Amino acid sequence: MQPLPVIVGTGLTGCAISRALSRAGIDHLLVGPPPDPEGPRLGESLNLEGSLDILDYFPELQAAYTAKSAVTSHLGDIEVRCDLNMQRSRTSAAFYAAIGYKRPPEAFLHVDRRGFDAAAFASVLASPHCRHVDGRVEAVDHDPASDRVTRIVLDGGRELRPSTIFDATNHVRAIARHLGLELTTLGPAQRAVYGHYTFDGEVTDDERLWLTTHVVRLEPARDGVDGLAWYIPLRDGIASFGVGVDLGHGGDDRTLLDLAYAAIERRAIVPAGRFRGPDKVRTLPRYDHFMYARAFGGNWLLAGGTFCTTWFPAASGISSGFAAANVAPDFVRDPAAHGPAYETILRTLERPHGVFEWIRRVDPSTTSCGEVERRADTLVEQSVIRLLMTVQLRPQRVRGAVSGAIERLIRRHGFDPSGICLRVNRPADAAARLATLAQVLEVFAGQRPLAAIDGLIHRDVVVHIDRLRFTGLGGWKKWARHSHATWPFEQLRFEVVDHTYDPAADRLEVGIAAVAVENGVERRSAAERFVYRFEGDMVREIWTSRRNYSFLYGAKFARLPGFAAHVARLMWWNRRHPEAGASLSG
Ligand SMILES: Cc1cc2nc3c(=O)[nH]c(=O)nc-3n(C[C@H](O)[C@H](O)[C@H](O)COP(=O)(O)OP(=O)(O)OC[C@H]3O[C@@H](n4cnc5c(N)ncnc54)[C@H](O)[C@@H]3O)c2cc1C
Repeated sequence: MQPLPVIVGTGLTGCAISRALSRAGIDHLLVGPPPDPEGPRLGESLNLEGSLDILDYFPELQAAYTAKSAVTSHLGDIEVRCDLNMQRSRTSAAFYAAIGYKRPPEAFLHVDRRGFDAAAFASVLASPHCRHVDGRVEAVDHDPASDRVTRIVLDGGRELRPSTIFDATNHVRAIARHLGLELTTLGPAQRAVYGHYTFDGEVTDDERLWLTTHVVRLEPARDGVDGLAWYIPLRDGIASFGVGVDLGHGGDDRTLLDLAYAAIERRAIVPAGRFRGPDKVRTLPRYDHFMYARAFGGNWLLAGGTFCTTWFPAASGISSGFAAANVAPDFVRDPAAHGPAYETILRTLERPHGVFEWIRRVDPSTTSCGEVERRADTLVEQSVIRLLMTVQLRPQRVRGAVSGAIERLIRRHGFDPSGICLRVNRPADAAARLATLAQVLEVFAGQRPLAAIDGLIHRDVVVHIDRLRFTGLGGWKKWARHSHATWPFEQLRFEVVDHTYDPAADRLEVGIAAVAVENGVERRSAAERFVYRFEGDMVREIWTSRRNYSFLYGAKFARLPGFAAHVARLMWWNRRHPEAGASLSG
């Protein structure tokens, strides 16, 4: 039989490589036992390129993907929040389209791995270019002179002579271990414990709970254990909770997971007592963070986690497997020409790893927001560059050339079209939140310039008016502009008459009265209820009611038809005053 490319490992990385080869019309063998139909495998929170590539490689498995609109790391009382909106602006949308992702999702993705690898495996086997060989690699012949793997032996004695071989066996490193490569460990050996929990209640549109990956630095004094915990929401009210500690620490598996769950609850990331679980305590009793000295040789390539495993909260494990898939068709044709670019990309993962290693080890009480921001910035900066480099691995030349040109531009001029937005803050107290709100109300009353609102309300603010929901600061500004131009008042101001502040949720509930002077007469409204949720230093979400505005816009406003007519008038008004438009897009 003619030697064929061989992929060892039927996990997500092996399946992605198989799909890449099939798409390029390259016949190959996929070697290994079929994936466990139950799963779940680890790796449920994806980074930028992982989110784009999983959709590209496995569009048929969409049902398993849910939005990840943010990742928040908790270090002491500091919160580092990355907003992940690929369509944040026209520039972002144009950027992704230019590099070949015509329909990028709005947010990054979470993937529900329950049964996922088995489904991906079944899907790639449907290609006539892929043949599955069920067996485990037990022996490997490597010719040092040509640096080629010449033969592999499977359990049961079957032999294969590969033309090219991809080791996609992750931490098992079934081929890599036989090559005598130098390996650098990137920190102490680790142990991970995780499980799936079920939410007891209705899944709402609470972004912090259902669309955000949370990473928590566990501290012995506060949490009873030193480590990193994570919370990843999946679909159907299921969430993955997990914890990583240095090997030899943390007690038995269940106790460790309970401590991680309690730490996540303590920080009000999830509501108290609302998750049931875990369904089962899963554990990785020992694994290493490491990187090999080489990612490829004469005819072999170490795919994704086989070449390097870094801190999983960097969410780069799965994307590193897709990087191997991207290069696979060209690598089969010419390993020496295409291996180096792949290796360069995977080496960049050492930097995000370093950031998480720092988060894991630093004493949170001695660090500042500025220090955290400086380190976290490198994660964001590198993300978009790594995506562009990954696209250039693909066998599509035009796409690669465009990505290369954009990469050079970004490196030279330092702009970031990714739509990733980083904020670092220590949760404020009620006084700070009231001060921000006072400024917002002054802008709304026309006492401060409208432009001041940019630093006070988040550009993607969500406003709930009764059951209606509006997103974006642009609408808020249009509303304010129209109000300023049409209000009959000579003077207007707002007074906060009472408040309650929930620091855990960073929510401020207030009673606000309007005081207006009209025809020389001062009138005062009743105090109406508003709720503001903050993120960073800005208002991120507002809950209000049409009734709250009767005083300002008349009684009709409280009823839906009157409200709709008002909105129509203000849209018409804003269109008629285009000079406002340029500064109003939010
Ligand atoms: C605790 C934890 C949390 C993580 N969280 C994330 C995350 O949030 N986001 C992220 O992107 N990544 C994460 N990762 C990393 C991610 O899980 C992995 O990168 C990814 O699942 C690896 O997929 P894979 O296909 O490369 O390996 P695997 O899924 O491990 O597949 C390896 C395959 O090799 C086969 N195999 C093994 N030995 C042999 C042999 N001798 N012969 C033949 N076949 C063999 C196995 O049967 C298996 O099918 C996490 C990892 C850990 C440990």
